Amino acid sequence: MGKNPALVGVVVMVLAIAGAAVAASDHAGVSINGVQALQKLIDGNQRYVDGKAVCVNQTRDRRAELANGQHPFAAILGCSDSRVPPEIVFDQGLGDLFVVRLAGNVADPVAVDSIDYAVKNLGSRLILVLGHDRCGAVTAAVNGHEGGGEVGPMLAELRPAVAASKGQPGDPVANAIRENVVLMVEKLRNSKPLHAMVRSGELKVVGGIYRLDTGKVEILPDQSATQ
Ligand SMILES: [Zn+2]
Repeated sequence: MGKNPALVGVVVMVLAIAGAAVAASDHAGVSINGVQALQKLIDGNQRYVDGKAVCVNQTRDRRAELANGQHPFAAILGCSDSRVPPEIVFDQGLGDLFVVRLAGNVADPVAVDSIDYAVKNLGSRLILVLGHDRCGAVTAAVNGHEGGGEVGPMLAELRPAVAASKGQPGDPVANAIRENVVLMVEKLRNSKPLHAMVRSGELKVVGGIYRLDTGKVEILPDQSATQ
């Protein structure tokens, strides 16, 4: 009994189509890796700092291109502060950044869930936690720290940063802002939905601080790289 050539042909064709579909969705689902994504943010921030923003991807064509899908190359956890809109300070446009903004850029459970969606469903391979100078939320946490007692959910999220930075030399608010970014990066890296991808090197999580006076985002040293 020989093989039916027509049947073999159909099977080969089906396998070929299936293979092409997997490759296409892999490609579309992960636009660029974490290192490339970070470089894009750094480059865009430099354009913004220099007053040379190109306002890329803010056209009618881009809007049409995204109508049925998005693959943002980075997810940003930033503060709600009106002076630090990620799309502007990184000179990006529609569909480029998946942004979660909460006062004090805290990685509360909903923020973690939202970012997990961007990573797993939209293909983002970089998460940036973006703090900023003179953050009102962190200032409130620093000022209220000595008071103790019941606090709201935002201040509760910020308390560990205030405690960790207590006693450090320099400005207490600036220290707490930096410590908060470091702790939120750690929290995301170690979160249940994301830690396997961080460990495998598939997902990069970094912190940065936006300087209100210059517009520059200072990327904090990658503490996981030394481990
Ligand atoms: Zn803030």
